[in-house]
Amino acid sequence: MTDLTSLTIAGALNKLRAREISALELTEAHLARIERLDPHIRAFLNVTEEFALAQAKAADQARAAGDERPLLGIPIALKDVLSTKGIETTCGSKILKGYHPVFDATSVARLYEAGAVMLGKLNMDEFAMGSSTENSGYFPTANPWNLAHVPGGSSGGSAAAVAANLALATLGTDTGGSIRQPASFCGVSAIKPSYGRVSRYGLIAYGSSFDQAGPFARTVDDVARVLGVIAGPDPLDSTSMPTPVPDYLAALDGELRGLKIGLPAEYFAEGLQPDAETAVRAAVKQLEDMGAEARELSFQHADYCLPAYYIIAMAEASANLARFDGLRFGARVDGADLIDSYKKTRGAGFGEEVKRRIMLGTYTLSAGYYDAYYGKAQAVRTLIRRDFDALFNEVDVLIAPVAPTTAFAFGEVTDDPLRMILADVLTISANLAGIPGLSLPCGFDRAGLPIGLQILGAPFTEERLLQVGAAYQRATAWHLRSPELG
Ligand code: GLN
Repeated sequence: MTDLTSLTIAGALNKLRAREISALELTEAHLARIERLDPHIRAFLNVTEEFALAQAKAADQARAAGDERPLLGIPIALKDVLSTKGIETTCGSKILKGYHPVFDATSVARLYEAGAVMLGKLNMDEFAMGSSTENSGYFPTANPWNLAHVPGGSSGGSAAAVAANLALATLGTDTGGSIRQPASFCGVSAIKPSYGRVSRYGLIAYGSSFDQAGPFARTVDDVARVLGVIAGPDPLDSTSMPTPVPDYLAALDGELRGLKIGLPAEYFAEGLQPDAETAVRAAVKQLEDMGAEARELSFQHADYCLPAYYIIAMAEASANLARFDGLRFGARVDGADLIDSYKKTRGAGFGEEVKRRIMLGTYTLSAGYYDAYYGKAQAVRTLIRRDFDALFNEVDVLIAPVAPTTAFAFGEVTDDPLRMILADVLTISANLAGIPGLSLPCGFDRAGLPIGLQILGAPFTEERLLQVGAAYQRATAWHLRSPELG
């Protein structure tokens, strides 16, 4: 009998529809694998076994009654930044220990409405600040390809769970690369949608003008299925766009003939791991063999992306995190008076990285520095957006590596915040401009760690990115490899 945890969503749906398996069996197989392997990987902060079994039984009953919803009976898991009604949601932080939201995030509600079965909440860097999941307030998550290496971050749990076959798909969020970079480190497929494509309602805010939720899965086809369910306008999020959601699955068969690919020279700069460059260039060659035309071009303001992003992200974070004061959400440490309680709660509840960012963000927003830092960063952001507009007038998609290196070892980068920040140098430009980015596996380095390919497009061209990614996966087998976990 096939191992039920190594199926794709497409494959599982075929078996469910043919009544070869039930949602309950599929869910139990995943729960058993989580119980066996997650003590080593630690992708989950919380496994919601009873909840999952109840949803699976309901899915089987619904199917028996003729229901054919797009994710009916499919086991998924969620980054703990997404609010889940009645289920603890910590955002990877001690300060939210014990917080049980009274509502579901819209993306979560849409997964439930589509029939998905929720297995649990996934580990992450605290408040999504980081690139390795080592900043989790609870414990680090391991990379399923090498347990001594990080899974990337901040959605490390989301990427590791899919790579280790602990869920068929997961949701993560990407503020500066946190969907694409861990997907690349763990060898899975994932998309950061355009800003405004997926509702942010119930996504605990880090950098509100950047944050987007998106799916991780083992194939681009599966990513398209989940994105189709969660995308679309939401009256509860005024920054969600009314742009209609295309039929992503229907777009996947398209041909690549005549597709214009741009290779920004600045993304292939010094510091890029040679194995990664070779793999990405081989992927471009593959796409050319399929009829695409690739050429080098230049992304003018590339050097300013990191500083602009970190100034704006920390400024927004300092404002967003002001609400965690021990009175309304999660944990509280009582002090002598109100101010003392605030200080003690925030002092004990927030980790080092979060405190560092709140301080820097508060500083850049303070009178006298606002114009010099925050105002300037916003102006630079506009220039970056215009750079992309100009590039997408010339080409259909941009292709680049996802990260300068493959997954690093635990502890290797933690003492050097600047090096950690450099892990996102190739992803954050997309967040500054609000454009979509797909990450998919395109090879392995000499140590056997996955390498990711990044495909960027103009706002609301997810359809095209998925089409290119699906064509690539029809012609290659990198996405079919799985780590040996026993
Ligand atoms: N590593 C980046 C940061 O710490 C991006 C994180 C993210 O995308 N959530 O800000």
